[in-house]
Amino acid sequence: MNVLAIGCHPDDIETLCAGTLARFSQLGHIVTICHVANGNMGHTQIQPDELRQIRRKEARSAGSLIGAEVVSCDIGDLLVDAESKEQKDKIIDVIRQAQPDLIITHSPEDYMPDHVAVSRLVFAASFTATLPHYETSQPGIAALTPIYYMDTLAGIGFQPEEYVDISETIGVKLNMLKQHESQLKWMADHDQIDFPEFVLTCARYRGLQCGVTHAEAFRVCRVWPRVRPERLLP
Ligand SMILES: [Zn+2]
Repeated sequence: MNVLAIGCHPDDIETLCAGTLARFSQLGHIVTICHVANGNMGHTQIQPDELRQIRRKEARSAGSLIGAEVVSCDIGDLLVDAESKEQKDKIIDVIRQAQPDLIITHSPEDYMPDHVAVSRLVFAASFTATLPHYETSQPGIAALTPIYYMDTLAGIGFQPEEYVDISETIGVKLNMLKQHESQLKWMADHDQIDFPEFVLTCARYRGLQCGVTHAEAFRVCRVWPRVRPERLLP
């Protein structure tokens, strides 16, 4: 199976679904990680252009830990726009290139506008990517796939429908997260948060809910014809 995870900032995928992606990867599936925004505003001292490059490198080294390809739409932070045709077309290109059987993205009710915009863009792009007469720079079309929404930040307002046991991949997930060094420092300075601890606590809590040590939680985008009768998550 081709699995495409589309998150907003470099580190969102690591935070919300990397344990599941690691499991997909272990099972021999092909995993692609796409960051829509380039994360250029996430620091107190480093200037946006330099940070953009640092975060691209951090994202690549995180993805390499599970053999995932990492791509970016390279949109500036806080400029993600659910109504933008140009941004939708960039995501269509990513989808047509990755040829996913399954897409994972943000919940439409996540905590900040760019995450919500990514969720809406992915929903629209994954439909449009199937239309042969809708041309973008990437040739070919993609199939209409199931979409899974990953947990919200800190799980607020998110009622899980499916859990993935990540007890064996929590270590890889945290290592992936730790590749985002610039962000761990930013979160500590700007928000006084020990981010690995935050992510570990969320995984532990989701684990408690389903009777395992650590878990990640998902909801299914239930619209025709994206729903499947079988379980697709590991
Ligand atoms: Zn984010």
